[in-house]
Amino acid sequence: MHRTLAGDLSRLPELLQAARDLAVREVEGLAERPVAAPGPPSGRAPLPDAGAGGDGALARFAERWAPGFSGSAGPRYLGFVTGGATPAAVAGDWLTSAFDQNLSGAGGSWAQELERETVVWLRELFGLGEAHSGAFVTGATMSNTVGLAIGREWAGERLVVDVSREGAAALGPLEVLSGSPHSSITKAMSVLGLGRDRLRRVPLLPGNREAVDVAALEAALAERAGRPVIVVANAGTVNTVDFDDLRAIAALKERYDFWLHVDAAFGAFAALSPEHAALVDGLDAADSVCVDLHKWLNVPYDAAVQFTRRRDLQVAVFHNASPYLGGPEGEPDFLHLTPENSRRLRALPAWFSLVAYGRAGHREIVERSVDLARRLGAGVDALPGLRLLAPVRLNVVCFTLAADPSPQRVAALARAVAESGEAFVTPTVYGGVPGLRAAFSNWRTTAADTDRVLRVLAAASV
Ligand SMILES: *Cc1c(COP(=O)(O)O)cnc(C)c1O
Repeated sequence: MHRTLAGDLSRLPELLQAARDLAVREVEGLAERPVAAPGPPSGRAPLPDAGAGGDGALARFAERWAPGFSGSAGPRYLGFVTGGATPAAVAGDWLTSAFDQNLSGAGGSWAQELERETVVWLRELFGLGEAHSGAFVTGATMSNTVGLAIGREWAGERLVVDVSREGAAALGPLEVLSGSPHSSITKAMSVLGLGRDRLRRVPLLPGNREAVDVAALEAALAERAGRPVIVVANAGTVNTVDFDDLRAIAALKERYDFWLHVDAAFGAFAALSPEHAALVDGLDAADSVCVDLHKWLNVPYDAAVQFTRRRDLQVAVFHNASPYLGGPEGEPDFLHLTPENSRRLRALPAWFSLVAYGRAGHREIVERSVDLARRLGAGVDALPGLRLLAPVRLNVVCFTLAADPSPQRVAALARAVAESGEAFVTPTVYGGVPGLRAAFSNWRTTAADTDRVLRVLAAASV
């Protein structure tokens, strides 16, 4: 064994303790550090020849890189939809690395059963029935990709084409109908050989809505009757958190033949709040469902879950049978269900957080996020320099400058907020108007944090 490696082995407890000490300093300072990194990164160092040992690596990281990391796990980083990591989830994540299990299959470990238990808990949390099976993937983009891959295989079943063997081209054009799809849907269509241009945008409801007009969707389905199509319903759009009427869309299945995929990346968490649960009524009727966990569940990146009613088709797409890996018999190993073969135990942080805080604890995070979004929305609405672009429907505030919201002026506002070190919000375009989004999904955010964000916005928008 190389002597620095042997040295680290002999001092393993001290090294882990030192890493823990750094993590504690960082996490304790998270609420007060600049929310966005100051300035550009320093240059690149050469590949080390003689190693510095674990302590040396830790010291160099603390000095060279940690100061340039964002406070994205903290309470006033409201860009994109960025959850943090609950204390128990961080502990679970550390242990995922320490135990370093390979979740491709059982492999002499109980870890695969832990992932299955976690999936069953999540299924219940989001109100899905037992017909849905699930698996962990790295994020909602991958969850959407897997859902559409299963939908593509289903279209093959309808047309008596074995897509997994003959390829997507054997299907002919497969259209995807959706009202306000996330950009990851067209990315998935590109990856899957369906083609980005096969997305058909269905008109939205009138009156500042991002939800699909179900009558228009029905007309689009009627036009395509006799050919399988995929419908992507959206449960929580990123700009205004609008929800398609999932029950009404699912009811169309009685008359039209389509694969129903629901992108509920963060909207699925509405199910945790009795006041908002009706927004995801009908989710269970979906053929495939995408839910992100590194957003509103507040587990570390990268974690999402993919549910489907057609595990048989999922196995047809993803099976990876070989004499040394085994086949997809009985309850299939995860390597037959997901794009990855070797996989980390990314269920463990979610398992930890669910055991630690339960349904009630996670419900409180969701409800507080919504309360705080409303609080910021009311504050923005009252500022002379800003105006809301849409009502605050759930956990996102979408707003812009009251006067001349040009792309340059809106970008300058986002920059001023970031440079204050107090908060971070990200730009968008909504209804053709450049604007900003403030998304609440972090477990640490308080009313006082929200008021600090509002003060920065007030100062930067005069
Ligand atoms: C965030 C998000 C995605 C993409 O999620 P990643 O985890 O970043 O891949 C997809 N759909 C919706 C609605 C989202 O909010």
